[in-house]
Amino acid sequence: MNTKLNPYYTESTILYNDGEFKKASDTTIDLYAQTLHYGYGVFEGIRAYKTESGAKIFKAEEHYNRLKRSAEMIHIPFNYSIQELIEVTYEVLKQNNFENAYIRPLIYCSPNMGINRPNQVSIMICAWEWGAYLGDQLLNLYQSSFCRPHPRSTKIEAKVCGHYVNSILASVEAKDNGFDEALLLDSEGFLAEGPGSNLFFEKDGQLYTPKKGNILPGITRATVIDLCKELNITVTEGAYKPELLEQADSAFLCGTAAEVIGVNSFNSKVFPIEWKNSLGKKLQTAYQNLVLEKELTSQNF
Ligand code: PMP
Repeated sequence: MNTKLNPYYTESTILYNDGEFKKASDTTIDLYAQTLHYGYGVFEGIRAYKTESGAKIFKAEEHYNRLKRSAEMIHIPFNYSIQELIEVTYEVLKQNNFENAYIRPLIYCSPNMGINRPNQVSIMICAWEWGAYLGDQLLNLYQSSFCRPHPRSTKIEAKVCGHYVNSILASVEAKDNGFDEALLLDSEGFLAEGPGSNLFFEKDGQLYTPKKGNILPGITRATVIDLCKELNITVTEGAYKPELLEQADSAFLCGTAAEVIGVNSFNSKVFPIEWKNSLGKKLQTAYQNLVLEKELTSQNF
C-alpha cells in the first residue's frame, strides 16, 4: 500500500468490521456491493479530541443516533447497540494509539444488483488523524450552480453515501472557479449549506442560519445554537436569499470535519466585520473549549 496515495491507513492500522478488529490493509469490499453501484449506504463523520482526561469522542451518541436514523430512513436495517458502537469506537482509537482523530463509521450493503431493499448489511468503523478539513484560513465562498437535492427526491436529512455526488460536484466547481468552497442553495433558491458543512451569518449583532428541511441538520450546527444560548447571542433559523448573505457583516461554516471556520467573502463580496471581531470568532473559541472540555470562561475570549 502506498501511503503517499492513501493517507488514511498504513500496514498497521486497525479498523472494526462486523464484530472483528482487522488490519485495514487486509480488508476488501465485494465489487458487486449494492453500496458501490448505487450509493446506497449511510455513514457518519465524528471527531475525537485529546482532552485532559484522555481521548474523548465528541457527541458520540448524537452521531450514532443519526447513523441509526439515516439507515432507517432509507430502509437499511440497523441492528446495533449505540453503546456497543461507542465502545468499539474507543477500542479502534486505542488500538491505533489515536487521541485526536476523525472517525468514519459506514454501513454498507452486500452484493445486490437490484434496486430494492438490501440483502445483508455490514458495518465498518475506521479512524485517521486529520487536521481541520477546510484548513484554518478564512474561506472565499462560491454560489454553486448545483442545488441541494430536493427533499422530495431523497431523505435529505439522512447522511447517505450517494448524496455526496452533489457535494463533490459543487466543491469541484467552486475550486475550478478559483474559490475555496461552495455554498449551495436549495431548489427554490434559498441559502442551504456547504458540501459538508452548515452556514451561519451575522447581521447587526445577530446570527442567522438556514432552517431545517433542505439541509443536513448538523450536530455542529446544533452545538453552535446551544453555545449561542450560553453566550446570549440571538440566532434565528429561516429561509434566506443569497442577497442577504452578500449584505451580511460576517459568516462562518461549521461541521464535524471543518469545525467552525470563518468566511472572508461570498461571491467575491468581502464581509465588513473582521473575523477577529465577529460573532463567529467567539463561537469558534467556545466550540474549541467545548470539544477540548475546557471551561467556558470569559478568560477564553
Ligand atoms: N451538511 C452536510 C451536507 C454535511 O455533509 C455535513 C457533515 N456531516 C454537515 C452539514 C455538518 O454536519 P455535522 O455538524 O453533523 O458534521
